[in-house]
Amino acid sequence: MFNLILFGPPGSGKGTQSQKLIDKYGLKHLSTGDLLRSEIANQTPLGLEAKNFMDKGQLVPDEVVIGMISSALDNNPDARGFLFDGFPRTEAQAEALDKLLKLKKTGIHLFLGLEVSEEELVRRLLERGKTSGRSDDRDENVIRSRIVEYHNKTSPVADYYARFDKVRNVKGEGSIDEIFEAVSAEVDSKLK
Ligand code: ADP
Repeated sequence: MFNLILFGPPGSGKGTQSQKLIDKYGLKHLSTGDLLRSEIANQTPLGLEAKNFMDKGQLVPDEVVIGMISSALDNNPDARGFLFDGFPRTEAQAEALDKLLKLKKTGIHLFLGLEVSEEELVRRLLERGKTSGRSDDRDENVIRSRIVEYHNKTSPVADYYARFDKVRNVKGEGSIDEIFEAVSAEVDSKLK
């Protein structure tokens, strides 16, 4: 199995690069943002609870997303590996993920961070908001709150994995293909 965390602030291109990675390496894509939006679309109790946080640009409570990831892992017993996108976003989520993967006799092989400047993030998110149908991309205040949550709660997750020497960073600015080349090179070096 090969398990990869694609990490970076909102708007850093995780979704775009994830799509290319799952095509190339045959991994199962687990995006907590996508899973939450699907719960909202289906108007489940979980979705209704999550929406209150997401609309404000705040993180959804850990136990909600951890439960969602735990089910997703159980529902994909034959996966060759997982690509985690938007998860873990807190240290508690990182610890929970380690435990879940250990139960499956596996772990994280690579933690790949995408680095993008803050002005570029806001610009991309506002641009995406024009067409994505995502209300959290349309309001600059909500975008700024998401970036603040990222700095306060999510960026420490990189230090958590750095202890295990699994962290690699790639510049997330340039063309999609250039970035993908750099991302793929890191994956290939761990697959060897
Ligand atoms: P982006 O990376 O552009 O912020 P996502 O689709 O990953 O977009 O997430 C959208 C929102 O969903 C976040 O702002 C947050 O409210 C919620 N969310 C997604 N993943 C998590 C997570 N792992 N923990 C807590 N909240 C999450």
